[in-house]
Amino acid sequence: MQYVIIGNGIAGVNAAETIRRMDPDGRIVMIGDESFPPYCRPMISMVLEGSVSHARLPVRPASFYEDWQIEPILGTRVTGMDVDDGRVDVDGRSVPYDRLLIATGADPRPIQAEGLALGNIFYMRTERQVRRMLDVLDESRRALVLGGGLVGFKAAYGLMRRGLAVTMLIRSGYPLSLQVDAFAGGMIREELTAHGLDVRVDVAAEVFEGDKTVQAARLSDGSRLDCDLVVIGKGVLPALDFVPRDRLEVDLGLVVDPFLQTSVSHVYAAGDAAESIDVARQARWVNAIWPEAAAQGRVAGFNMAGRPVPYNRSLSRNVIRIFDLDVMTAGVVDPQAIEGSEVFTRFDPASRRYRQLVFKDERLVGMTLVNAIEQGGVLTALIQNRIPVAGRRKRLLAPDFNYRAVA
Ligand SMILES: Cc1cc2nc3c(=O)[nH]c(=O)nc-3n(C[C@H](O)[C@H](O)[C@H](O)COP(=O)(O)OP(=O)(O)OC[C@H]3O[C@@H](n4cnc5c(N)ncnc54)[C@H](O)[C@@H]3O)c2cc1C
Repeated sequence: MQYVIIGNGIAGVNAAETIRRMDPDGRIVMIGDESFPPYCRPMISMVLEGSVSHARLPVRPASFYEDWQIEPILGTRVTGMDVDDGRVDVDGRSVPYDRLLIATGADPRPIQAEGLALGNIFYMRTERQVRRMLDVLDESRRALVLGGGLVGFKAAYGLMRRGLAVTMLIRSGYPLSLQVDAFAGGMIREELTAHGLDVRVDVAAEVFEGDKTVQAARLSDGSRLDCDLVVIGKGVLPALDFVPRDRLEVDLGLVVDPFLQTSVSHVYAAGDAAESIDVARQARWVNAIWPEAAAQGRVAGFNMAGRPVPYNRSLSRNVIRIFDLDVMTAGVVDPQAIEGSEVFTRFDPASRRYRQLVFKDERLVGMTLVNAIEQGGVLTALIQNRIPVAGRRKRLLAPDFNYRAVA
């Protein structure tokens, strides 16, 4: 049996290890365009911030491929595939597979602007990009961050902690609009502003100016902003340029069934590249987060090696610390996205504790917690296990409920 895994992120790595445990004799080929040992991608923002050293990023040793008898093809990208012949194209050759996993993660969403080829304009997806940012940090004073999503927010936070003056341009009225509701977003914006972040809403960068490296940006409101470092954090898109869309079903991500198999048999997908059923929404969704990629990789590995294991627990969730705010979210944060949902909120201005719970059909489907996150694990379990909480919904708003009271 020849297994081919495209992508050496956490989804690919967990799949490879699972396959090897199940099938000691199969041949496993892993193709990835990053040559650094498998590493914790979310932690690159901590390296930028200075709280973690670059050396702490790897989640597996450099001997990983040898230890697990995996044949690596690294530093190069798959450019095409043939689902009829069962082959992928890489580096001018074609590699056959009996089982294929597409675990290619996501690429930063590109932007349209003039002057993007100037130096010191970065995306923040890889350890290499962060290393290059660190190389120019000492000579940088003013940073411009485009986008207030998870990556944009983390870039801005890291650069502020490094002492740079940071301006963030966002389209929605507050940062992290996919992760938190509007009220919590307002609290986050206030917290960041109080610590010196300059947030500008409804404005985009149109032209970057400079001589070799960026020195200023011209914005859509006519203003000009001095900056010597730019980070583009306008979201991500599943990295699927090599996938024939007339053969494999692709929506935003590669559509998979409950066994993480795509619309073509023997071809699987996991992680940021895959679109599976979200347990809170009860609809297909790409949950581009680390714990999902890790779990989906493992489950895909079982299925590829012949043990059927369903996966029906996909759920967006996050815990984020923003100076003095602890924020934890899971599931649906925008109730308007779910027809027939009901919302309960509670805010205590003195302690700056906030809780929004979203219910649908007597079940909890979403939560946003600020500064009282201790019960977040229990609330997440209620969402993930679809536990009915009829008649006890208001009780979940209280900071002192316990699981026994609701289960
Ligand atoms: C700055 C930052 C902060 C984040 N913070 C959080 C967080 O706080 N919490 C959280 O849960 N998640 C966070 N994430 C998201 C998390 O890192 C991803 O969800 C996770 O890494 C996805 O894993 P993956 O294995 O699916 O894909 P990836 O980690 O993207 O790995 C895929 C690999 O495949 C390679 N590849 C792509 N295309 C090809 C090709 N054609 N041929 C060969 N190789 C290819 C890629 O280069 C990459 O090395 C963050 C991400 C970033 C960038």
